[in-house]
Amino acid sequence: RIAYVNGRYVSIDTPAVAIEDRGYQFADGIYEVCKVVRGRFCDLERHLDRLERSLDAMGMPMPMSRRALALVMEETWRRNALPDAVIYLQVSRGTAPRNHAFGASMRPSLVVTVRAAKFPSGAELEKGVGVISLPDERWANCHIKSISLLPNILAKQQAAKAGCREAWLLDEQGRVTEGSSSNAWIVDGEGRLVTRPLGREILGGITRSVVIELAKRDGIEVVERAFTLEEAKAAREAFLTSTTSLVLPVTAIDGTPVANGHPGSVTRRLAELYAEAEGMATAA
Ligand code: PMP
Repeated sequence: RIAYVNGRYVSIDTPAVAIEDRGYQFADGIYEVCKVVRGRFCDLERHLDRLERSLDAMGMPMPMSRRALALVMEETWRRNALPDAVIYLQVSRGTAPRNHAFGASMRPSLVVTVRAAKFPSGAELEKGVGVISLPDERWANCHIKSISLLPNILAKQQAAKAGCREAWLLDEQGRVTEGSSSNAWIVDGEGRLVTRPLGREILGGITRSVVIELAKRDGIEVVERAFTLEEAKAAREAFLTSTTSLVLPVTAIDGTPVANGHPGSVTRRLAELYAEAEGMATAA
């Protein structure tokens, strides 16, 4: 089988995608599937329309003109000599050093593959099939450290565009779940640490668990409960945590300064305890 990869026709077994392709790193890409029946591309215009809509929604350019794309699809199909075929087309945002946010001028990466179509048999079409029911859990398993990070990278990008480090994400009740790549915390009026409880709405941060332990050991009360955005904006302190961002003070939310706009004392204490615990403390 022959695949098209960024300007070249190669055997499907050829390693051809870069490790730092954002499709591989972040699932930051889109795809389209269309079929060829007895040598005829079905609904090609509709498929290309949807492809353009998907790209547009992602803020990605077409990898080439629509006409060139159709020609590449046809040529890939032709080289595979399969009259009934499924054409798979994937466009990723492109290759760049791994970073959630992306630059303005990324060159999309295009892969086209072809396989033999296996449509339902006459018996299946005649008899029908069974289905089972399941809750729709797509995007709902944030506790899994999955590479399916599309919503995260889009959020991070918006934060970067707004000149901010992170985006705090809200559930349907307007409560903060977590950041796009970190956990979210506030210090309430009583000086208690507040962070979202573990559950499928957040990734259970390693830093989060270390900070909870350090806080308790230091006599700081920790309350694991959801807090609203309003609460966060009115909080005494706010901060975020992650393996690489450490304990990082959050001093503004949506442009509103948190308290006086400077890191608070509880945050600074925790940052210090954390740095010490992780062997990062500077001799003071
Ligand atoms: N939430 C999300 C969505 C993350 O991607 C991360 C960091 N990878 C975290 C929280 C923080 O986890 P950790 O403290 O283990 O780095």
